Amino acid sequence: MSYDSDNIFAKILRGEIPCDKVYEDDWALAFNDINPQAPVHVLVIPKGAYVSIDDFTTDAEDAEIAGFYRAVGHVARALGVVEAGYRTLNNTGADGGQEVPHFHVHLFAGRPLGPMLSPAL
Ligand code: 5GP
Repeated sequence: MSYDSDNIFAKILRGEIPCDKVYEDDWALAFNDINPQAPVHVLVIPKGAYVSIDDFTTDAEDAEIAGFYRAVGHVARALGVVEAGYRTLNNTGADGGQEVPHFHVHLFAGRPLGPMLSPAL
């Protein structure tokens, strides 16, 4: 799948749409999800144009990958959720439930988050 530069997160990165920013560095932008699923629900996105974890881990430079995942850890520490615990999640493609075609990691925290998935059918 080729990258759609009109996706909503690309517009947020370009500043065309506002976001509730939590953190930003050279590699990543983190902002609160517009429809939170937990008391803390932050999205961390790379600055580069990647559809999913598939092309991110195929095409991104090592420095981009390291910088991005360091930013995820930094956000968790800055939010003060490490001690109580948190969950990171990445949805990929149709079966993964990905809605926005710009690679992103969800960070959930602020309450016991329960089991990861319902039992398989
Ligand atoms: P996905 O299903 O692609 O993993 O998750 C996309 C997430 O982006 C959803 O949790 C959705 O609530 C969030 N989202 C969609 N549009 C916007 C927006 O314009 N602003 C923000 N902050 N979050 C958005």
